[in-house]
Amino acid sequence: MKKIKINELIFGIICFIIFICFFATFFTAIIAIFFGEVPTKTSGIVKYSFSDSINILFVAIFTAISGFFFIKFFEPKKTLKNKPKHPQYTKCPKCKEVFNYKELINGKCKNCKDVDTVDLEEYFEKYPDELKEKEKNVNKKEQ
Ligand SMILES: [Zn+2]
Repeated sequence: MKKIKINELIFGIICFIIFICFFATFFTAIIAIFFGEVPTKTSGIVKYSFSDSINILFVAIFTAISGFFFIKFFEPKKTLKNKPKHPQYTKCPKCKEVFNYKELINGKCKNCKDVDTVDLEEYFEKYPDELKEKEKNVNKKEQ
């Protein structure tokens, strides 16, 4: 079973409370606007004036907006989410050096200038001979 982290649990509980608060105030407001009175468990039927109903509606909208910002800013960030799917590396076909994208100058190799680098994933598809050469070298070392 997946382990639930404590910050995710607290976040979930607070989200649930905000959700309940929003629905309670929102439906109270809607019923009050259309019928002028709301049946309650504790105080029987409560009459609301139209302006009171609008005020409750504003409370509901405020709850929704603050809930939205709460979720946006306090949502537990998953560390995996922030990592790129593939490491962003690229290789220069001329000097054979590997760079991180951040090291490049306008996408060009910083050693050779004006030479476009190739993504590592595509590099050996583009230069299959180099891969063969590497395999040869490895085989030589093993012998
Ligand atoms: Zn280069």
